[in-house]
Amino acid sequence: MKYIGAHVSASGGVENAPLNAKKIDATAFALFTKNQRQWKAKPLTDASIHRFKENCEAAGYSPDQILPHDSYLINLGHPEAAGLEKSRTAFIDEMSRCEQLGLKYLNFHPGSHLKKIAEEACLARIAESINLALAQTRGVTAVIENTAGQGTNMGHRFEHLAAIVAGVDDQSRVGVCLDTCHTFSAGYDLVTPKGYEETLAHFDAVVGFSFLRGLHLNDGKKIMGSRVDRHESLGKGTLGLEAFQMIMNDRRFDGIPMILETPDDSRWAEEIRMLKGMIE
Ligand SMILES: [Zn+2]
Ligand SMILES: [Zn+2]
Repeated sequence: MKYIGAHVSASGGVENAPLNAKKIDATAFALFTKNQRQWKAKPLTDASIHRFKENCEAAGYSPDQILPHDSYLINLGHPEAAGLEKSRTAFIDEMSRCEQLGLKYLNFHPGSHLKKIAEEACLARIAESINLALAQTRGVTAVIENTAGQGTNMGHRFEHLAAIVAGVDDQSRVGVCLDTCHTFSAGYDLVTPKGYEETLAHFDAVVGFSFLRGLHLNDGKKIMGSRVDRHESLGKGTLGLEAFQMIMNDRRFDGIPMILETPDDSRWAEEIRMLKGMIE
């Protein structure tokens, strides 16, 4: 079973996200549980939590189909004590919000070394940040997303993801999410059938499909290996439709939320319909 959706708006309250997902015939969705551009947020109200759960149930979304995303401000590998502390506090709050909503995943970008600490030290900090958050929450899995490797962002090599996972104490509550645009921009082929198989075999050898908890479906504006994170609507970018055709018919991606983060939200319903239609 393929769960296909988009990162929908939660404007007006988290309870609106499942309604917005249903409108585009999605069978999965992502959301921010707070304003992603601010550090602090008001706690979720009991009414909002209750309505979120009710709306998910009415629309047929189980926690397996929902992949919340944290704030872009958070840097769990921050080289400086104050920045690291602020990020860890915010991340624990995000994990707690997911727990309150009865969700099982929280998707996040690993972090950046900002040219102030070595890559290995940054990866170790990220793993320790995850350990702290897992110790203070229950039931929610920390889902590390691979990145395009822009600037000093970690997570563009599968080895980075593996190193973070290896540093987490509770292996049952850590996972990874692959973003197609980021994977391609980081230098891994997903476009030719041979490259696609090699990339995924490499991912399986280094990280392991047993840790895969989600997929972001984005075409890209830039060439393979550009290390630039620019999403494009499906079929309009450098990946092209064949990559998504292969993904839709790959059983290794069954049962996980697959989320569009493509720039034109007016095309999401059409993109979802197209993806469903690719399944042979
Ligand atoms: Zn993504
Ligand atoms: Zn991106």
